[in-house]
Amino acid sequence: MNLPILEDVEYRPAASRPGTAAGSRSVYIETYGCQMNVADSELVASILNESGYQITTAAEEADIILLNTCAVREHAEERVIGRISQLNGLRAHRPNLTLGVLGCMAQHLSKSLPVRAPFVDLVMGPDAYRRLPEILAQSSDDALFDVRLDRAENYIGVDPVRRTGTNAWVTIIRGCDKFCTFCIVPYVRGRERSVSPGQIVDQVKRIAQEGFKEVTLLGQTVNSYREGDTDFADLLREVSAIDGIERVRFTSPYPVDFTDRVIAAMAEVNEVCPSLHLPVQSGSNKQLDTMQRGYTIEEYRELIRKLRIAIPDIALTTDIITGFCGESDEDFRLTYELMEEIRYDSAFMFKYSAREGTYAHKKMNDNIPEEIKGQRLQQVIKLQESISREVNQQYIGQTVEVLVEGPSKRPAKDGQPRFYGRTRQGKTAILTQEIQANEIVNIRVTDTTSHTLLGEIAE
Ligand code: SF4
Repeated sequence: MNLPILEDVEYRPAASRPGTAAGSRSVYIETYGCQMNVADSELVASILNESGYQITTAAEEADIILLNTCAVREHAEERVIGRISQLNGLRAHRPNLTLGVLGCMAQHLSKSLPVRAPFVDLVMGPDAYRRLPEILAQSSDDALFDVRLDRAENYIGVDPVRRTGTNAWVTIIRGCDKFCTFCIVPYVRGRERSVSPGQIVDQVKRIAQEGFKEVTLLGQTVNSYREGDTDFADLLREVSAIDGIERVRFTSPYPVDFTDRVIAAMAEVNEVCPSLHLPVQSGSNKQLDTMQRGYTIEEYRELIRKLRIAIPDIALTTDIITGFCGESDEDFRLTYELMEEIRYDSAFMFKYSAREGTYAHKKMNDNIPEEIKGQRLQQVIKLQESISREVNQQYIGQTVEVLVEGPSKRPAKDGQPRFYGRTRQGKTAILTQEIQANEIVNIRVTDTTSHTLLGEIAE
């Protein structure tokens, strides 16, 4: 086996790691970051299961602990480093414990991780998971690396081990070709490649047989999907036609690749939910150009206009970055005004932090003071909170369809249990009546907050 071992950094785990031939060895997987990582952890579980490893939900009992990590935000990396150090403490009682880091951060920090966490045994990027059983079976004093990107790896033939629940994630396209200047994803996940439609349809049929009613199609640029003659619009229609699938969602689409055919599929196919996360990042053309997003704000507005005409009840969410390189007061004002104009249902909002390895980190001046970035972030958060509250209030008195997910973590004020689910628009709905998970019910909305709808079963 030809594993790339770092040449310039010594990397020795705390104890000599024995080979872990499957036998009855157990594996605990902890996942950070986006839904793609959740789906990847399900792939990893499947690959290890097939090789005889048992998946456990208790880190303290596991022979092997794998952290599937995210590199998109620095904060997530710091959390993972802290968590690995904490888990390393388990070695006091389990000296043969194997500790591995998988995913985007493993890919991104393959050189510095050995210095920051020298007790890690295994570092593996997102295209190398098929080799996990082979690598775990090796006995070695040195940490083992496989962070090669593979243009062809789509994990064809691996059927993910899904957690029970109401929604199944299905990765339909891996990687990204867009190279937005702030983003690390193309460097850690490689080039775009689509999974064949036949493979996706077979997977969704199995999902439906397992009892899932909702499926979410995943990709960094999910609507860039194309395989042979099948584009994303065709795929949406094919997946929606599968018996037992009642809701189809997808995330995240890229505005430039959003075609009229996809809008038509969303409008015409009842199973495709009227909810869309459409990242805009900035309301300023100058900033969009600096970010190399590939669209103007006029083009983005036109897309929203078409979507709202075709799907009047659509819920829209977005991503906003404040304080990206060169963002002037005027650029920020344009973002703020765009949010006032579009009135998103909700938004993920972040202040810019440079990620090592990106174009922006290498070539651009991160010249907006932290204080200004933070102030702008607080302004958009405050704005979005009030818009979300107002948008949700419009649902009061309406009847909405909810797919129940289970008991809510927070009981009612009087201590009574509550249950939660999601509307077709993707909003969290809370109800006091007990309804079995995976049931679809109609509820009448009685109250709202900026994040939830509260309701009771409609007569
Ligand atoms: S489209 Fe841009 S932001 Fe999204 S994953 Fe690709 S490079 Fe990153």
